Parts: sequence; structure tokens; C-alpha cells
Amino acid sequence: MTERKPTCGDAGGRNASGEPCGCDWGLSESTGLCVTHDPERIEQRRQIAAVGGKARTDKLDKFEWQAALPPLRTHADARVWQEEIARAVLSGKIDRKDAGTVGKILSDWVKAREGELTIDELEKLQDAQKKIREASRNRPRVA
Ligand SMILES: [Zn+2]
Repeated sequence: MTERKPTCGDAGGRNASGEPCGCDWGLSESTGLCVTHDPERIEQRRQIAAVGGKARTDKLDKFEWQAALPPLRTHADARVWQEEIARAVLSGKIDRKDAGTVGKILSDWVKAREGELTIDELEKLQDAQKKIREASRNRPRVA
């Protein structure tokens, strides 16, 4: 006969329908209860969930913002990117260092294709770049 492992139910843990809890892993050494039923660890679990939830939200926010950008193929796309970056810096979605890096990549991209630009397009792009620089300068540094 195989030896039966102790369960949370042995120490008094009950599930929602009042049956002994069958969980046999992660039992507390002091109470013998599982993570779900150990009052000592319920607060700890709540805090972990809160931190995990926040990290997920931050990540999602960043992801959705990037997903909203069009693929970078035309100068019109570059303009959208520049405007969105300026907006993102001002609203605190990305920090100034990131904005500076992306802005530099964008201006390199634009420079590499400058021959294909009309005067009108060039002026609009330079205007958008100026906006990014101003947004980066004006945004107060956050700790
Ligand atoms: Zn349990």
C-alpha cells in the first residue's frame, strides 16, 4: 500500500462546499494548511496578486500603445510615429530616454530616405521632430 500524503483537509482545511480540502502540496509547516486556506498566507497571496496585476497592466498598456503604431514604411507613417511618441512622452507612457532613442532612429530613417521627400513632407517631418524635442525638454523628470 502506498503511503497517503497529508492533505490540507487533515489539518481542518475545508473547500467552498464544506468538504475536506484535498490539496497535498505547499502545506504550511506550522498550520498544515494549503496556500488557499492558510490564514497566515492569505494576506501574502493578496499582495502578490496585487503586484502581479499591476505589472501586467503596465505591460499591457505599453504593448497596446506600440500596437497602435502603423508599420514604418512611408513618411506619413513616420509622422504618425513622431506625433504618437510626443503624446506618449507627455502622458508619461514612455520615458524621455526611450523617446530620445526612438526619435533618433526615426530621424535616421527619415534622413536615409530624404531624397524621396517633397519639400512639404520634409517641413512637416521637421515640425514633428521639433515637437518631440520640446516634449522631451518640457516634461518634468519623475523619480
Ligand atoms: Zn486547502
